Amino acid sequence: MSQVRFSNVKKVYNDDIVAVDDFSLEIEDGEFVTIVGPSGSGKSTLLRMLAGLEEISGGEISIGDRVVNNVPAQDRDVAMVFQNYALYPHMTVRKNMSYGLKLTSNLPKGEINERVEEVATMMGIEDQLDKKPGALSGGQQQRVATGRAIVREPEVFLMDEPLSNLDAKLRAHMRTELQRIQDDLGTTTIYVTHDQEEALTMSDRVVILEGGNLQQVGTPAEVFNKPANRFVADFIGSPSMNFFDVTLSGTTLKSEAFTYEVGSQTAERIRERSTSDELVLGIRPEHMMFADRSSVNTVTAQLDVHEPVGDDNYFYLNSNGIEFTMRAMGDYGFEEGDEIVVTFEETKMHIFDQTTEDNVMTDTGSTQLGPAGATAQRT
Ligand code: ADP
Repeated sequence: MSQVRFSNVKKVYNDDIVAVDDFSLEIEDGEFVTIVGPSGSGKSTLLRMLAGLEEISGGEISIGDRVVNNVPAQDRDVAMVFQNYALYPHMTVRKNMSYGLKLTSNLPKGEINERVEEVATMMGIEDQLDKKPGALSGGQQQRVATGRAIVREPEVFLMDEPLSNLDAKLRAHMRTELQRIQDDLGTTTIYVTHDQEEALTMSDRVVILEGGNLQQVGTPAEVFNKPANRFVADFIGSPSMNFFDVTLSGTTLKSEAFTYEVGSQTAERIRERSTSDELVLGIRPEHMMFADRSSVNTVTAQLDVHEPVGDDNYFYLNSNGIEFTMRAMGDYGFEEGDEIVVTFEETKMHIFDQTTEDNVMTDTGSTQLGPAGATAQRT
């Protein structure tokens, strides 16, 4: 078990592609951290630099008390689990699981075998030990790949989209299984995914990257409820948050679709923290509610599409050409083209500066970089 620290880490490929820029983060001993972001945002590069598979162009990476910038991959005591399993097809499961340990330790054969059997039991693949990977299902192969990492008892587990080759049901099952194992072992784990749902459900903290820049670090609840900026607000949550361009005039937010009266303190706060009166109002589909025509702060819209999903419903609405989505549980007999009146609470809305895209309603413009409470400006 070990703490991991990135200090102002930078990676430039071919002299001009900045894959990771000035990245700082402290990961606590035993913590489960997920790095999430769209394709090309620098997630794998971060993980590969930590594993020692990629040189760093600037900054410092530490594992425990040791700066590992110049420590070769095999001496870093990390174990990586990949998306494509990377199992040796000609070796049995037992050999696949013991191979790394044989190479990197002087443990006697009997002890290695014992560890392999113990981990195989933990992973539910004890009956598969004498088979070759080709004879196993995708889920079993992923268990072997994970088991092979566990057997080595590393300081840190690094997982790069390990579940993305599995079907949805198995993926959900393996998520729970990985969480349970991580919890039991208490090994510091850094998990990379492009899937925001995976990040929200699995980890202690979520790190959101975009274009090689850190956008926000926080617990799943923090990044969902207090997104630091419009990018995070849009990326986290499904269906995505609705955004409306608005102008603040007095205590009124005016959009082309509606007007919304906010409290005087809210208006003051927005004015203090934004660069102009040009703002973006964000509201999550599940935070919209049906309302009476006579209520205040409503949006009147036309129903374009009603999509029932079991007990849940997605309503695709359109107000004055501005499209947005509402989500509500229950049974509804609406027809397409119906006029619908909706509202939302002030406490659920997010206000972003149109220029900086920062959330002006929360204090998360600066990101919490370490569990001990160290903070720094978002890069
Ligand atoms: P992610 O894992 O978030 O998809 P990556 O870390 O793979 O992102 O890539 C980040 C950026 O670095 C991308 O622009 C990608 O094209 C670039 N990149 C990654 N690996 C290399 C490489 N070996 N050579 C040049 N550019 C690379």
